[in-house]
Amino acid sequence: MRRDTMDVNVILAFACYRCEEPLSITTQCRGLVLDEEQLVSIAVACPQCGQVNYLSFDASGQVRSVRPYTCIRVLPTPSAN
Ligand SMILES: [Zn+2]
Repeated sequence: MRRDTMDVNVILAFACYRCEEPLSITTQCRGLVLDEEQLVSIAVACPQCGQVNYLSFDASGQVRSVRPYTCIRVLPTPSAN
């Protein structure tokens, strides 16, 4: 069953890869096609140490991996279309 073009709010809980600060963020995945097997990746800056964590998570909000992110980018913002 497809759930495309829905607004999906997911809560991501993870520990910063560098300082191990427990973090949780809520992100909205507007318009993304989130299949059970599809992973979504975002970059999140740790407020504690400032390092950017590169998260991969699935449609249920389960964080699959946390890696260092080498390029500084802001959080992806949902497109307005
Ligand atoms: Zn940190």
